[in-house]
Amino acid sequence: MGKRVLNFFAGPAGLPLPALERARDEILDFSGSGMSVMEISHRAKEYEAVHEEAIALVRELLAVPEGFKVLLLQGGASLQFAMVPLNFVHGGKTADYVVSGKWSQGAYKEANLAVGAAAKVAASTESEGFRRLPRVDEIRHTEGAAYAHVTSNNTVFGTQWRTFPGTAGVPLVADMSSDIMWRPIDVRPFGMIYAGAQKNLGPSGLVVAIVREDFLATARDDLPSMLRYKVHASKNSLHNTPPTFSIYILRNVLAHYKAMGGLAAMQVQNEEKGRLLYGCIDAHAGFYRGYVTEKADRSVMNATFHLPTPELDAAFVAETRKNGMVGLKGYRDVGGIRVSMYNAVRVEDVRTLVSFMEEFVRKHG
Ligand SMILES: *Cc1c(COP(=O)(O)O)cnc(C)c1O
Repeated sequence: MGKRVLNFFAGPAGLPLPALERARDEILDFSGSGMSVMEISHRAKEYEAVHEEAIALVRELLAVPEGFKVLLLQGGASLQFAMVPLNFVHGGKTADYVVSGKWSQGAYKEANLAVGAAAKVAASTESEGFRRLPRVDEIRHTEGAAYAHVTSNNTVFGTQWRTFPGTAGVPLVADMSSDIMWRPIDVRPFGMIYAGAQKNLGPSGLVVAIVREDFLATARDDLPSMLRYKVHASKNSLHNTPPTFSIYILRNVLAHYKAMGGLAAMQVQNEEKGRLLYGCIDAHAGFYRGYVTEKADRSVMNATFHLPTPELDAAFVAETRKNGMVGLKGYRDVGGIRVSMYNAVRVEDVRTLVSFMEEFVRKHG
């Protein structure tokens, strides 16, 4: 086998090795069927078992209570940007958007295309370059809104909500694409959670959604079938042929999380990774210049910083690459360096990177 790199890409991102090895071992003969999981009917009992297990593992890992449905959808988080307003903004209702970064802005823009001025910006930190999250007292909720939308982790700029803002009774809808399952959360305050899979869960294109049933009941009944949450919910996400191979990989990833000790264990690792990386940044604050101004808002999934010059940023990226570490170039709107440390990135991987960073500052600082 060729050597695997230390993968710090922001998405699609690295997946846990045991989940990939399991797929390799089962690729020609899945579950004694003599076929791969890709080559088998989505109505076959072998596939059905995988489908049910994936959903059951989402429920178990996130302790999803009764009264919530788990859906497996397609079209990435970006299709959810349109489906959420299309389903829930009707009958004169509005929707509030907390704009804290590139993707939350995308969600708002798409809602605007879907339902026009009924989509409202409840708060935005765009004028400050998204270097911090909006404070709770800056968020203006619209009375009687269908929902308030937040993005739990700002993948591009590197902020993350530790405590979600209250919404005075309005259902909270969260895009958790880049931090779902980084730790245990209480699902009960949410009307809906959705996440594109390619950061913490599996292959791109697949979306995991968790919808509260009383919120689901308020969704429209007059949309085309594939856009209607109620259709997917009533068919257990088997209305049409689901992305079976992606769901199979999701199953492998979630089974691995469970074997690792679940999300409590995941949180211990993720906090440790954040402590190591931000510890290094703060110890050399004149050289590694953190992008996020509020330390309490720093993301443990995506850390962003700049070196003193763009030339040093480029040298850092080039040298990490030579040392088997990939994906560290910052997003084009931000520049600098972005370290994505999703669940598949191990504490030892971040230790390796931090050693490199210590060495780099000794040479160039
Ligand atoms: C990556 C990402 C998206 C986009 O997901 P697609 O699957 O490409 O549509 C949306 N929201 C957040 C927070 C992301 O990190």
